[in-house]
Amino acid sequence: MSDLIEVRIPDLGEAEKVQLVEILVSSGDRVDADDSLITLESDKASMDVPSPVAGTVKEIRLEVGAEVAQDELILTLEVPSGQTESSAEELLELEAEDSAVPPAPGPVPSPAPEPQAPSPVRSAPTAVDLHAEVVVLGSGPGGYTAAFRAADLGKRVVLVERYPIIGGVCLNVGCIPSKALLHVAEVIEEAKDLESRGVAFGKPKINLDELRGFKDSVVGRLTKGLSALAKKRKVEVVQGSGTFSSSTTLRVESEAGSKTISFDHAIVAVGSRVIEIPGIPWDDPRVMDSTAALEIEEIPKKLLVIGGGIIGLEMATVYGGLGSRLTIVEMMDCLIPGCDRDLVKPLERRLKRRYKAEIHLGTKVVEVKPLKRGLKVRFEGGKEPAPATFDRVLVAVGRRPNGDRIGAGSAGLAVDDRGFIAVDEQQRTNIRNIFAIGDVTGHPMLAHKASYEGKVAAEVAAGLKSGFDARAIPSVAYTDPEIAWVGLTETEAALDGTAYEKGSFPWSASGRSLGMGRSDGLTKILFDPATKRILGGGVVGPSAGDLIAELTLAIEMDCEAADLGLTIHPHPTLSETVAFAAEAFEGTITDLYVPKKK
Ligand SMILES: Cc1cc2nc3c(=O)[nH]c(=O)nc-3n(C[C@H](O)[C@H](O)[C@H](O)COP(=O)(O)OP(=O)(O)OC[C@H]3O[C@@H](n4cnc5c(N)ncnc54)[C@H](O)[C@@H]3O)c2cc1C
Repeated sequence: MSDLIEVRIPDLGEAEKVQLVEILVSSGDRVDADDSLITLESDKASMDVPSPVAGTVKEIRLEVGAEVAQDELILTLEVPSGQTESSAEELLELEAEDSAVPPAPGPVPSPAPEPQAPSPVRSAPTAVDLHAEVVVLGSGPGGYTAAFRAADLGKRVVLVERYPIIGGVCLNVGCIPSKALLHVAEVIEEAKDLESRGVAFGKPKINLDELRGFKDSVVGRLTKGLSALAKKRKVEVVQGSGTFSSSTTLRVESEAGSKTISFDHAIVAVGSRVIEIPGIPWDDPRVMDSTAALEIEEIPKKLLVIGGGIIGLEMATVYGGLGSRLTIVEMMDCLIPGCDRDLVKPLERRLKRRYKAEIHLGTKVVEVKPLKRGLKVRFEGGKEPAPATFDRVLVAVGRRPNGDRIGAGSAGLAVDDRGFIAVDEQQRTNIRNIFAIGDVTGHPMLAHKASYEGKVAAEVAAGLKSGFDARAIPSVAYTDPEIAWVGLTETEAALDGTAYEKGSFPWSASGRSLGMGRSDGLTKILFDPATKRILGGGVVGPSAGDLIAELTLAIEMDCEAADLGLTIHPHPTLSETVAFAAEAFEGTITDLYVPKKK
């Protein structure tokens, strides 16, 4: 025997009418209590209407796009006899009261990716230690940003981190410690440079313990600050390794025992880990990944860096500055693959000139043999360098996502075979209440992408209309010189045939740059030939990472060349080079002579 119950639009708060933007079930579907039936959207927020009880959808009475008001009939549900209409109404009321989302509902601009995995796995009735409206798994720049934003939007948030210190790779073993050391290397180099200008300091005396202490103090200050910010926002930090046990529960294991956390929404922010290539004697302490290299246990006389990407070259810059003799091998035929050659050239030249670095492109390391006197390395490809012995080897060949280590299957969460989790522009995974952000969602693996995505996920989870709509994500190598680029590159344009015109300004004509003793920089901007709007740009030279922000804003604001050229930039600064590059494109530059375009 079965009864038919009617499911109606719940209390909409201040809104009289809202739009139905998505119907999540079809006639004949079996639904459980709390399964989402439809999504409503107002201009302020979105809200899913849950099923009050388990049953079978009989007839859907509304259509997508309809403007609906409170009490309008959504659908009828066939339920086993005995489950009355009043119990359904009570449940709906409870749901409405529970919701911390502003009462006016509203949805989400785009659908979640097609499910590639089993449907959501609801929690078996296990004992729950803690409930979170939003649980965030991983406390890197993606995770802590998401947690803080969700808390600021009124959600009860639990942040799960496997390490005792929050902040993730970026704060602890990535962006921040590397930049602290890079700054020291830069000052050493600048001091050396002054010798040709009549000021000599003598050879630097390096105390590695103090240097490490400085780096650790910078990290410590930031991570302590983060913990304080979490406390202020009442974000509960749970230490332990989290794995999903269903689409609504997470199990957290630590030395102190295990905890089960139930959640309404989860945000996966588990980041990435170092790729360990085979054939390397990883148990030899002279072999380092980036984390070990940041510990600067010693300054090796001869350092081999395997991998000519950003991380490898930043660490090479640190060790080169401290006095190591560098050899860099890269499998591809260029350093920093993906970045335009004219931006990389000044770095390549400086590495060779300053550190006498040997750079082997198109070359692979095929063997690393631990010997008493060092690590003997054999190479293949390129000009096939002769085998050589190094005091230390740094392996920096990339990072792989941690999506394969979170029990994703138990939540029905789709993870590809590399460990990435696909998301839509609202950071939703194939499971509607689970979001993913940061390195685990794909390239570029950058902290500022992770934090941007973290805000989007938190806002969507809190019912706001939000989405990833940034037009461009800047990339920076904090080497010496720095290299930064954003938007379209000439390399991409050549590959996909995008039409562009370019304005460039060589820093050999910048008074500020020459005053710094540097003439190797370049600022270039790519424009759409038809609209003169900026498509992308690149900078190489000191502080390129700061200068790229102006080009990123220009892309976001749809600027034309004249907007940049006619903006008064302070003189003498490196920022002028951005305006000059735009003027060079416009043909209005007076600081250079550019023959007129015919
Ligand atoms: C040497 C180095 C230098 C870098 N420099 C820069 C830079 O200058 N600028 C830049 O933009 N990017 C830089 N990056 C990259 C940047 O660090 C990452 O892109 C960024 O940290 C990604 O943030 P995330 O939040 O996705 O993950 P992560 O920062 O990787 O954080 C993930 C967190 O999740 C935790 N976690 C993982 N699995 C679990 C689990 N099952 N349970 C609980 N916790 C878990 C991890 O312990 C970690 O704390 C650098 C990386 C390295 C290695």
